Amino acid sequence: MVGVSVLGISGSVGTSTVKVLRQFPDQFDLRSFSVHSNWNVAKALVEEFSPEVICITDPKLVGKFGDSYLSTKILYGDKALIDLVQLPSVGVVVTAVVGARGVLPTIAAIEAGKKIAIANKETLVTFGPLINRLVAKHNTVMVPVDSEHNALFQLIQRETRSNIRAITLTASGGSFRTLPLEALEHVSVKQALNHPTWSMGPKITVDSAGLINKGLEVIEAHFLFGFSYDEIEVVIHPQSITHGIIETTDGACLLYASHPDMVYPIAHSLFYPNPTPQMLIERKPSTWNTFEFFPPDTKRYPGLLLAYQAGKAGGAAPGIFNAANEEAVALFLEEKISFTTIPRLIESALNQIENVFPETLDGYLEKDQETRNYIQREFNQGGVTT
Ligand code: NDP
Ligand code: MG
Repeated sequence: MVGVSVLGISGSVGTSTVKVLRQFPDQFDLRSFSVHSNWNVAKALVEEFSPEVICITDPKLVGKFGDSYLSTKILYGDKALIDLVQLPSVGVVVTAVVGARGVLPTIAAIEAGKKIAIANKETLVTFGPLINRLVAKHNTVMVPVDSEHNALFQLIQRETRSNIRAITLTASGGSFRTLPLEALEHVSVKQALNHPTWSMGPKITVDSAGLINKGLEVIEAHFLFGFSYDEIEVVIHPQSITHGIIETTDGACLLYASHPDMVYPIAHSLFYPNPTPQMLIERKPSTWNTFEFFPPDTKRYPGLLLAYQAGKAGGAAPGIFNAANEEAVALFLEEKISFTTIPRLIESALNQIENVFPETLDGYLEKDQETRNYIQREFNQGGVTT
């Protein structure tokens, strides 16, 4: 029986993780979890799983639900996420909160010797070199939950590294793949949230519509697998059945394909290094029909090029890319800026904010904050956003 902690259990990845836990009650025991604001989900999960401790991170809710519910202790505030992951009974931590704020509990989990099932890509993008140093120091087992990276992780393990020429991440193309380019400026939040193949949280769904999610994933892949940016490619694959491809030196391509449902990578990351037992949800290849692959159109998806630019620059630049995007997407979701302003704001941040090569967590956090302040200033002054 492996003890599990899920940070952000009320979100899309969190909900899929609960599905896996329900399917394998003899293998996994939910010992702790966090929600930000969603008390109803927290309450129901406490009743179902009886964890030792849970955390409610929204500062507006501090103390609101008392110190305990049934036999479960309730903690408040994001600092308490560290207590959740450090529990002796926890063996694996699923990081499914959204945004670079996931860094502190991720570091705490690494230092406490836990296995990490990492969904929270913003942490890896912003703090990649730091996380990698800690992972090496503590011999951490870190398994990517992001579907493309989980697919690549599995493919790379089956191949000799020197035989791999390049890796490819697939992208569905998001909500606006076939929309006329001139209409992009005027798309609504509702349209952006209507993803054709994946059901995900709002931030990543907007990220996907502009292929900025794929840009974050290119950087995530660089830090996870150590390939150079010239060896990481992106292909549009509208069906979202193939998730990752490795090209071998002999000219072959090995594809990882599965029905687009996060339960597969989540289950793999929880069971790893053991194989996942047969899943209840099965989709046969005979139901998949067509596989299409196209190169991404960089006019439609300028954010993807910006991600490569930030990744290649290194240092704090990926974090500047990420923080600018987090702020811009939040403004778009609040209907304060247009969809096409998102990459414009990111580009402006990358051009205007000085890149540095931080040695410490604080160094990265300072650039993250400087970028967020910059985007808010740009918005308030109506610069790039008008
Ligand atoms: P959601 O928006 O669905 O869920 C986010 C979770 O984080 C919720 O539990 C939410 O709590 C919590 N949360 C929100 N704000 C805060 C905060 N300020 N502090 C602490 N917790 C907070 O996101 P997803 O599940 O879609 O994505 C989570 C992460 O996984 C992201 O990094 C994303 O890029 C990555 N990912 C997601 C995939 C997917 O299929 N969704 C696929 C691959 C990666 P509450 O609901 O209670 O407010
Ligand atoms: Mg993904």
